[in-house]
Amino acid sequence: MYHSEKLRAVIKKLMLFPGVGEKTAMRFAMFLIQSPKSFVESLAKDIVEMKEKVKLCKECFFISENELCRFCSDEKRDRTKICVVESIEDVFTVERANVWDGLYHVLWGVISAREGLDISQLKIKELVTRVISKDIREVLIFTDTTVEGEATAMYIKKLLSNFDVKITRPAYGIPLGMEVEYIDPATLKRALSSREEVK
Ligand SMILES: [Zn+2]
Repeated sequence: MYHSEKLRAVIKKLMLFPGVGEKTAMRFAMFLIQSPKSFVESLAKDIVEMKEKVKLCKECFFISENELCRFCSDEKRDRTKICVVESIEDVFTVERANVWDGLYHVLWGVISAREGLDISQLKIKELVTRVISKDIREVLIFTDTTVEGEATAMYIKKLLSNFDVKITRPAYGIPLGMEVEYIDPATLKRALSSREEVK
């Protein structure tokens, strides 16, 4: 139906992107077909180079071109506090609110029975190792308030309760079912400033 095997191959690959269905994939492919060859070549080059250069910080799993990301290598940050989030986008959201001066830990997902994500694929073990090996005094668990986010928070809390570390969560202001990514800076600021220890 695509009248070209190559076009079909590109559309199939684009459809592997999150949130991209066949219609959007087709629109992207048409955009590329109409673009100058130089643009398509430079895009392909940028993608390959990004893949080679951008890696995950060995401490917190945020993106970085170096071993340590800009947060983990920033001496001005409070290194005794870690904010645990589900995704890279969540770090951007928290940073925009300008309320957190500690470090981060990106889980790269949540525990989900539905999607069948294996817990070992999440960076939970690495979080526990950080808490044990570094001088961490507070772990703020800031997952989504969805069923999966809450289940993940409870799981982490249980794991960390064996160690001498304060575990906190945002106290109020965040509705149930909310994804961190969509919380506005004012609400986020209020929620993080009012965080409370969970026992
Ligand atoms: Zn880092």
